Amino acid sequence: MRKTYDKQNIFAKILRTEIPCEKILENDYALAFKDINPLAPIHILVIPKNPYVDSYDFNENAKSKEIKYFWKLTNDVINQKNILEKGFRIITNSGIDGNQEVPHFHVHILGGKNLGRIIN
Ligand code: AMP
Repeated sequence: MRKTYDKQNIFAKILRTEIPCEKILENDYALAFKDINPLAPIHILVIPKNPYVDSYDFNENAKSKEIKYFWKLTNDVINQKNILEKGFRIITNSGIDGNQEVPHFHVHILGGKNLGRIIN
């Protein structure tokens, strides 16, 4: 069963330019912007421009070109921020147990320091 997409979520509003974001990069299929509450020196969110609730929805329903350009933008961010050599972490949360706050698929790119173990 496909989860229903809430068009009033905050990232949908960012995509409609109803609220601002600190844009890093974009392409035809994805947008990268700074997380408003950074948990690391580099904390950037990458979202697809089309409406998907979470990674499962995206993987199931996005066209292969969208998927390709979504991941291309994450690599472009990694290159722009120069974190390939020292490393980074990509996280995506889903649903209640994943503690997903915003129900529009996004990945967090975290870097700029040693991030420790993934779960403490
Ligand atoms: P998640 O818990 O994976 O859904 O993460 C949602 C993320 O969105 C959190 O890290 C928030 O700090 C971030 N966030 C919420 N509102 C905004 C906003 N207006 N601009 C940028 N980041 C935001």
